[in-house]
Amino acid sequence: MNKPAPQTANYNSADAPADASARRAVPPVICYPNDSLPVADLETYRKARGTAVKTGEVLVPARDAACFEVPAGHFFRISSVEGPQVGDLNMWNKNDLAERFYSGKSRALHGTHITTGERMWTSFPYLRPMATIIHDTLGWYGIDDFGGSVHDVIGTRCDPYTGNLLAGNQYHYCCHSNLTRALADHLGVSLAEAEPHVHDVLNVFMCTGFTRDTGQYFMKASPVRPGDYLEFFAEIDLLGALSACPGGDCSSEHSSDTASCHPLLVEMFAPEAGTLKGWTSPPVNQYDGNHGR
Ligand SMILES: [Zn+2]
Repeated sequence: MNKPAPQTANYNSADAPADASARRAVPPVICYPNDSLPVADLETYRKARGTAVKTGEVLVPARDAACFEVPAGHFFRISSVEGPQVGDLNMWNKNDLAERFYSGKSRALHGTHITTGERMWTSFPYLRPMATIIHDTLGWYGIDDFGGSVHDVIGTRCDPYTGNLLAGNQYHYCCHSNLTRALADHLGVSLAEAEPHVHDVLNVFMCTGFTRDTGQYFMKASPVRPGDYLEFFAEIDLLGALSACPGGDCSSEHSSDTASCHPLLVEMFAPEAGTLKGWTSPPVNQYDGNHGR
């Protein structure tokens, strides 16, 4: 059977109005200019990190996930260890799982990919920084000729539902399922109780973008190599879950056992007393919740 042509955006230029070119030529405006965001005090964070002491580590097995906890004011590092591997990161306020990472708003505030000095923000009605990136060894990558970049907040997480929708299969080690199992085990609850807490991720080390001609989400082999890492400062008490994606370096496919996969290492560090001068854990968002009533 002939494979149908791939579906792309269904644009129809025959419907264009007379002033189409003029309308397209309007220059864009940045929705949230970077200079209106509170600036992360990287100098203080890095100074404190310089004398911080390692308190623990978690090795996330390939095609599986693991949880870890980081108190507010501490640091954590996610490292590539044995080979190129991307990770799907979920994060919650450890004391209230209703407050969790908000990928869409983090994207709106910082762009499609995040790096040093940028933040992971929490869901409504909290909307505050939960973690700040203080070091990214892939910061040099920037944006490549395809429009691709690293550490995206545009993908959601590979999941068995989309796999079933597109291929009709039953695959159980997608990041969504890995995160669900890890959270259930960590909290001592059922998979059904854990699953609704799993949310859109930060795709650590994943290289992605949107195609210029069709606007489709693409991935390509991650530039990450063993020894590369992404390091964070915890702004609030965190519960994290990291999945070592079955896509491996995401150079070809995910949602199967085909790709070559590797573990990921998470390490936690505590600052020396008194080294975080001037820092306090950010309060929840100060909107009064009136909503016009
Ligand atoms: Zn995945």
